[in-house]
Amino acid sequence: MPPRILILGAGPTGLGAALRCVELGYTNWKLYEKNPTAGGLAGSLRDSKGFSWDFGGHVFFSKYKRIHDLIQTLGSSFFISHSRRAFIHLFGLHIPYPFQQHLEHLPQDISRLCRQTHATDTEELSSGKDFKTWLEKKFGPHQYRIFFCPYNTKVCGYPLSELSSTWMDQRISPPSHIEQQKNWGPNSRFYYPVQGGMGGLFQSLAQRVNDFIAYDQEIIQIDPINRTIKCQSGLTDSFDMLISTGPLTKLITALRPNAPETIESSARRLRWNSSSITGMGFRGATDKKATWVYYPEPQFSFHRVSALSSYSADVVPDNNPDRFSSFLCETTLVDSTKVPSSAEILSNLYNTNLSLPVEHKELVSATQIFLPYSYPIPTCDREHHLSILQSFLESNSIYSRGRFGGWRYETGNMDHCLLQGMEIIDRLLLDKKETVYRMP
Ligand SMILES: Cc1cc2nc3c(=O)[nH]c(=O)nc-3n(C[C@H](O)[C@H](O)[C@H](O)COP(=O)(O)OP(=O)(O)OC[C@H]3O[C@@H](n4cnc5c(N)ncnc54)[C@H](O)[C@@H]3O)c2cc1C
Repeated sequence: MPPRILILGAGPTGLGAALRCVELGYTNWKLYEKNPTAGGLAGSLRDSKGFSWDFGGHVFFSKYKRIHDLIQTLGSSFFISHSRRAFIHLFGLHIPYPFQQHLEHLPQDISRLCRQTHATDTEELSSGKDFKTWLEKKFGPHQYRIFFCPYNTKVCGYPLSELSSTWMDQRISPPSHIEQQKNWGPNSRFYYPVQGGMGGLFQSLAQRVNDFIAYDQEIIQIDPINRTIKCQSGLTDSFDMLISTGPLTKLITALRPNAPETIESSARRLRWNSSSITGMGFRGATDKKATWVYYPEPQFSFHRVSALSSYSADVVPDNNPDRFSSFLCETTLVDSTKVPSSAEILSNLYNTNLSLPVEHKELVSATQIFLPYSYPIPTCDREHHLSILQSFLESNSIYSRGRFGGWRYETGNMDHCLLQGMEIIDRLLLDKKETVYRMP
């Protein structure tokens, strides 16, 4: 009998694993998803007024051939292709992104200060530095104080000195004196589904594997000794191998009482933040000046606003972006941080001027979504604790992968997660090495 594989979660990681099972003609597997639909954090919802909202600003891009091959199977008209038009709102101005490549757009005196930067050689920066030290050294004290510290602290919700600097590859553009790359970055061109918001992508992929998915089934208990799972509904199943794609911390809780205290203790050391996502839908035409804008300054309760209706007509009522516009506002929450009210978000939006003009528009919809797990935080001791947790899990034939399953922000995008799912199946069934999720 071939080994029975269970998959927890129908987000990008679980779907990647599921699609690969089907591709290989493998049938002894089942996927359990607690929600009624697929997509996880990369899903979307449509509100009663007809606006579609993603769970935070999601755009699709990838450097992986295997992901491009998968996407091509959806047909050439599935996605709309966009050029990024991103800005940073500072001093009442809109500075093009990346900040460090556009210092000439800052007020003259500040621009002069920022250019005095004596950035340290990249090699000197490569190891053993926390994120704060790394940023200060790489961009100098003025760029750090004006942009890098306030923005990154606002997004993470943690002091930057508690974060490691080992995860930045591909995430932060080099300083301008090292390399002039005004259009830097893997997402300078990105893709968005024509229909259904970003969640439309995962709904389409899920259709190929729906026969194997049990929706509305939350796994609440995992017995690693008898290799069984139990759902909230009372349903049970057994496994030879379990691929878990929900938060690693919750996986350890589901293993109680079979996780030793050392394991529970390592799980308690992992850090993450939550988000409040506020979708604001207006009557009034969509403006295409910006795709999104970053807000490092404290007077704005959000750190990023995406001009969602500029991505696809389908995200507004009647498919009509000439009559409606929508903005997605993201606010990081840590512990007891106050969730901003939609009235506060609206008043902030009115003060953004320039790129996101909302003054003359009538508010039609305000939809707030809470994400309890938003960003896994790359703390300095993360790899140490991941190593303890993953060794224990794998010794019990449990493979935890994905954004919060693998707990690595740097490989936590949709493409990384789809590929992590495909690669764990390749490893378990074909004995191939994983390339995206490397064991700590
Ligand atoms: C604010 C924000 C912005 C982002 N922007 C981008 C972007 O622009 N581009 C990009 O590529 N990526 C982006 N991402 C990342 C993207 O959302 C993730 O890559 C992706 O959703 C992670 O997929 P996953 O399958 O690992 O986890 P998830 O999406 O979290 O899926 C896990 C699934 O498991 C299910 N589940 C959990 N516990 C259980 C249980 N006990 N029983 C049954 N089911 C369970 C959940 O319901 C969920 O469906 C962003 C993420 C956030 C939060």
